[in-house]
Formats: sequence, structure tokens, C-alpha cells
Amino acid sequence: MLKADLLLGGVRIDGCALRGEYKQEIHRVFEWDDKWHAEERYPSEFRLADGSILEIRKDSQSPYLITVEDKSLCLKKNDTVISEIEYVRAPSFYNKSTRDGTPMWRVAEFSAAQSKVGASYGPHCILYDGNEQCKFCNMVPARAAYKQMIDYPTPQQHGEAIAAAYAEGAKKLCLTGGILSDRMEFGLCARIGNAIREYSGKDRIPGHVNVAAPVELKEIDRMYDAGFESICMSLEVWEKNLFAGICPGKARLVGREKWLDALEYAVRVFGSGKVLSAFVAGLESQESLLEGVEYLASKDVLPVPIPWIPCPGSKLEGHRTPSTAWHLSLGDKIHELWKRYGFDAEITRTGRKYL
Ligand code: SF4
Repeated sequence: MLKADLLLGGVRIDGCALRGEYKQEIHRVFEWDDKWHAEERYPSEFRLADGSILEIRKDSQSPYLITVEDKSLCLKKNDTVISEIEYVRAPSFYNKSTRDGTPMWRVAEFSAAQSKVGASYGPHCILYDGNEQCKFCNMVPARAAYKQMIDYPTPQQHGEAIAAAYAEGAKKLCLTGGILSDRMEFGLCARIGNAIREYSGKDRIPGHVNVAAPVELKEIDRMYDAGFESICMSLEVWEKNLFAGICPGKARLVGREKWLDALEYAVRVFGSGKVLSAFVAGLESQESLLEGVEYLASKDVLPVPIPWIPCPGSKLEGHRTPSTAWHLSLGDKIHELWKRYGFDAEITRTGRKYL
């Protein structure tokens, strides 16, 4: 409940609580906070007294506050202290550079809550050029606002930084980005995958490459051949008319039927449970979303609903996500479906997926 509340409703941070060492928030893809804050840097995660790690998403309307009480850092709700906390510190690779002198934190981001390293192959998505971006997305304005990550890191920079993150305990990778002209992201990700294998010494790369479904199915084989253990191609919305309305660019460029074909094809290439598809939970009814979750699960695709946070700079900025109770009840039903279809609910329940 606390995790769900903090994710959906966010938290405020007192100025006096910005002290000591902490891992800074890095805007690798999106901005999830309620407001842009290009000039200010905040901590990205904290640990409760019971050891659990929570992500920090700032919201100026939140009843939760990170502050200092009796000289200790703590989390309060309204005026009540919930727990003493400590910020998660940066991993040591954040202080290292690649051979060409690029700081590794500008290439790879570490999430302690998810034991995950995240990287982004680029800051752009061509859907923004035609005003056809997915309506919940703020990737292009977020990357332009923060300029923390290198725009297009080379495969070598990716390989070195991600190998360093694996060496420091990252268990999986999420390599993501938008749609590039002529679908160049597939060639780019193939080169990145090969570099990760070279620098990490791993034959298969733990984690996934996250791309829009290709029209040419051979691109899926290319991702497998580059060493990625799994692939994520996010349909985002199940109901077909809503999909066209919320994701007009994906609907025009690929289309729902081809997207579903690509997911099924990918299962034949990567294997059962190695193909993921995210949904933005809160944009459609539970009935419709659960129909999509069950459909994909029945095809051995792992459906991963992620709670919708209306982001600044997205077309849905200022809207509201459903209540915490709505998301929690959806989460219970999703876990039932995961169990019924043999997916490991505990693994999938990390981070934002699903509460
Ligand atoms: S495909 Fe959609 S969600 Fe992905 S970056 Fe482009 S606009 Fe954003």
C-alpha cells in the first residue's frame, strides 16, 4: 500500500533533507515527477527501516514528506513519522568513465529497487515529428529538458558502462528508446548487444531490449542474435479503438494486428516468458485491460501493466490516474493471471510492475 501510494501520489522533499550522499535522479527516458526541475537534482531512491527500497517520485500535492526529525532522515505522512529512512547511494560505476572519458552515469542508470541497469540508445522518437507520439509519453521533451544522458552513446560506451553495472550487482538490463527513421534502432541495438557481450563476457544478456514492434519480423531474429535474453514490445493499450487514439503513431506505422503477430513470432524466437509487452494501466477499463493481459499470457507473452502516471509535457498532462484502490485491485487480478499462466509473479512484481 505504501509503495503504491508513493508511486501514484508521489512525495515531497524538505530542503533540510537534501543532505549527505545519495544517488541522484537521472532522466534517462521519462520525467515522472509532477513538475520539470532542470536546475535541481534530487535523490532517486530511499531505503525504509525494514530494508525495502522505494523510488522517489516527487509531487507537490503529496501527503508524504521526506524530512529530518531529531537529526534523522525520515518519511512522514501528514504529521506522523512512518519510518526512518536512508537514501540509496550511487554505485561506484557512477564515478567511473569509459575509455574515451565519458562518465558512465551518462550512459547507464542503476535502479537498486529493481537491481536493474537502464540504458537508452537515443533521445528521439520520430512519432513526435508528426505529432503522433503516444499520448502518455514525454520522452523527447524530458530528454531535451535535462540533457543528463549522452544523446547517442556508442556501442562501446554502452558495453563498458553496462558491463560495469553487471559487475556491481545489476541483475538485468533494460535497453530502450524511441522509434528512429528507417527503423534504425534495430541495427543500433544489434551493435550495442554485441558490445555488451564483448565487454561483459556474457553470452546471453540478462534483461531485455525494448523496441516498438517491427514490420519486418527478421528484426526480431536480429535482436536474439545480438544476445538479448528477452525482448519487450509494448502495445500500451488493449482496446483497439483506444489503441489507435492513444498511440496514433504506433497504430499507423505498425498496426495492432501486426503488433500482435510480432509478439507471437518473438515467442517462437526467444521462447515462452521471454517476450514482454507493457500496458499503461489506467487508460482503459479493468475489464478491457485484463482481457489483453489474459490474451497475451495465453500466447506465452508476459503482459506487464505499468501504472499510468500523467507526466508533464505529455498530451495527458494534468489528467489523473485512477485511485490507489483501483490500481491495487487490478494488481491482485494481474497476479492471479500471471500465476495461472505460469509467470513468476514475485519477479515481475518489482519496481513499477505491478505495484
Ligand atoms: S513509441 Fe510512443 S512511448 Fe515510445 S518513445 Fe515514441 S512516442 Fe514515446
